[in-house]
Amino acid sequence: RMLKRQMACRGDIHRLNAPFLAIYESLIPPEEERTKQKQLLALLEKLVCKEWPKAQLFLYGSCANSFGVSKSDIDVCLVFNEDINDKSEILLKLADILQSDNLQNVQALTHARVPIVKLKDPATGISCDICINNVLAVVNTKLLRDYAKIDVRLRQLAFIVKHWAKSRGVNETYRGTLSSYAYVLMCIHFLQQCRPAILPCLQGMEKTYNVMVDNIECAYFDKVEQLSNFGSPNKETVAQLVWGFFNYWAYGHDYANSVISVRTGSIISKQEKDWTRRVGNDRHLICIEDPFEISHDLGRVVDKFSIRVLREEFERAADVIQYDPNPCVKLFAPYVH
Ligand code: ATP
Ligand code: MG
Repeated sequence: RMLKRQMACRGDIHRLNAPFLAIYESLIPPEEERTKQKQLLALLEKLVCKEWPKAQLFLYGSCANSFGVSKSDIDVCLVFNEDINDKSEILLKLADILQSDNLQNVQALTHARVPIVKLKDPATGISCDICINNVLAVVNTKLLRDYAKIDVRLRQLAFIVKHWAKSRGVNETYRGTLSSYAYVLMCIHFLQQCRPAILPCLQGMEKTYNVMVDNIECAYFDKVEQLSNFGSPNKETVAQLVWGFFNYWAYGHDYANSVISVRTGSIISKQEKDWTRRVGNDRHLICIEDPFEISHDLGRVVDKFSIRVLREEFERAADVIQYDPNPCVKLFAPYVH
C-alpha cells in the first residue's frame, strides 16, 4: 500500500480537467431551481406562521450548503425558540396543516432517528423533508457554505466525489456507507492538509461568528470574503485533487489510528478521542469528527462489511484514475453492492 502511495500521478492527468469540469458544470442547479425552492419555502412559511407565529423556517443540507446538485430534495428545519419535548405532536399537527393545503404525499415519520414530515409540492415538483429544532444542522450547513466560498476547487472536488459516491452505491447510510455530509467534510479536510493549503481551518481563527446550540459552542471565522485568495499559492487543478483525494483514502490514510478533523484542520489520534474500540454500535472503522458535535463520529454507520466496500471503492477509484485509458466513464460506472 505505502509503495503505491509514493507513486506520482499519471503524466497526462491534466487531460482529465476538462471532463471533470464538464461534469461539475452539468451538476450545478440552474437558477430556476433556486427560484422554485424559494417559492416553496415562502408557501411553507405562510402556512407555519398561521399556527406558530413565533416559529422560523430554515433551509439546511444540500439546498443551502452549496453542495447540492440539480434536482435535489430540500431539507427544511422548523425552529421554535424553546425546547420541544414531544416532537411527534408537532409533526402530526404540521402534517395536518400541510395536507389541507393540497401538498402531496404528506407523511409524518415520527419514529425516524430524525423525526420529519415529508411532502411533495405539486406546483414546483420539489420534495421536501421538514424536521424540528435541528439547529446544529442549520449551523453546520453555514460552515460548509462558508468553506465553499473560499476556493471554488472545494465545490468542484465535492461535486465529483458526491457524484462518484452516488454512482458507486457508497452514499447510503442505512447500508453502512457514508452521508453526503461526511464526504464534504472529507473533501474539506483534504484541502486543509495539502501543501500549500487550499483551505484554512476556520475554527482555528478569530471567532467572528459565535452561537450556542444544545450546549455546544459553535464558533469560527466567517468573514470568508477576506480569504478569497487563500488557496491561490497552490496551483493544483481539480484533476490532480480528485486523484489526490482518492489516493489519500485508498493508500494514504491510517485507518487504524487516525481521525480526520476539520475542526482542528488536521489529523488527530483515535487514542485521544477514545475511539479505539467498538462501543455499542459505534465501531470507529473510519473516523470523521463532526466539526461541532465533536463526540460524534460520522463514520459510526460503517460496519465491518461496509468498510471493505468503501476501501475497495477508494482503491478502485484511485486505480481507475491512475491507469484507465478512459477514467471518466469508468469512475462513475453505476454499481450496486
Ligand atoms: P444530498 O445532496 O445527498 O441530499 P445533503 O447535503 O443534503 O446531501 P445529507 O447527508 O442528506 O446531505 O445531510 C443533510 C444535512 O443534515 C447536512 O448538511 C448536515 O447539516 C446534516 N447532517 C447529516 N448527517 C448528519 C450527521 N450524521 N450529523 C450531523 N448532521 C448531519
Ligand atoms: Mg439532503
